[in-house]
Amino acid sequence: MHIILVGPQGSGKGTQAELLVTKHRIPHVATGDILRAAIKDETALGRQAKVYMDRGELVPDEVVIGIVRERVALPDCRKGFVFDGFPRTIPQAEAFGQVLGQLGIHLDAVVLLEVPRATLLERMAGRRVCRNCGATYHVSLNPPRQDGVCDLCGGELYQRADDNPEAIRNRLEAYDRATRPLIDYYRQRGLLVEVDGIGALEEVADRMERAVQARERKTS
Ligand code: ADP
Ligand code: ZN
Repeated sequence: MHIILVGPQGSGKGTQAELLVTKHRIPHVATGDILRAAIKDETALGRQAKVYMDRGELVPDEVVIGIVRERVALPDCRKGFVFDGFPRTIPQAEAFGQVLGQLGIHLDAVVLLEVPRATLLERMAGRRVCRNCGATYHVSLNPPRQDGVCDLCGGELYQRADDNPEAIRNRLEAYDRATRPLIDYYRQRGLLVEVDGIGALEEVADRMERAVQARERKTS
């Protein structure tokens, strides 16, 4: 199963991606996580990306495309993947299409998670992320069993540098301007599956799974 998740910040892409990859045993590729890891490791890439990320702006296409080109060529992506946070511009989508073509990988679906803006803001403001494994929680909507500690690995939970009001505004603005056009791009290619992102985690996960299967039945 090769799937891309699109949707605004706070729509639950990361959380849903985790549920999918656990169930299907396929890799979760999140460019945001890769970039945050590079910042933590203080690599050249991390230093380059940090300025953009802290402001809530997009990292330049060629940087992100380079990362993805390497990642998707690793053997674990052959049997499936869930991409989350990439592509998020038309040039990224076009480059990704070429790379996948070279690798002989066909996308099964591009899932759009739809959530009203007020909910996005609430979700982002209360979001906490595991410093160690990247799992995400919410202080009231999806709290960890123990305050400040990751259920999965025991790592420390923190609030992302870009989950502040100004960066959140910039990120949503970048979504509207650069990423929203992908919806039509993938709809025209018959790949788009629209899913209501409101509800319990498992409920949304079921909805996603059913929608992807329905698309496969329709096209096969
Ligand atoms: P969110 O989507 O909630 O902002 P992410 O972890 O997906 O969180 O991304 C965090 C930041 O990383 C983005 O604001 C952007 O600066 C950078 N980034 C991640 N993926 C991309 C991408 N595909 N293209 C450009 N920048 C990206
Ligand atoms: Zn963790």
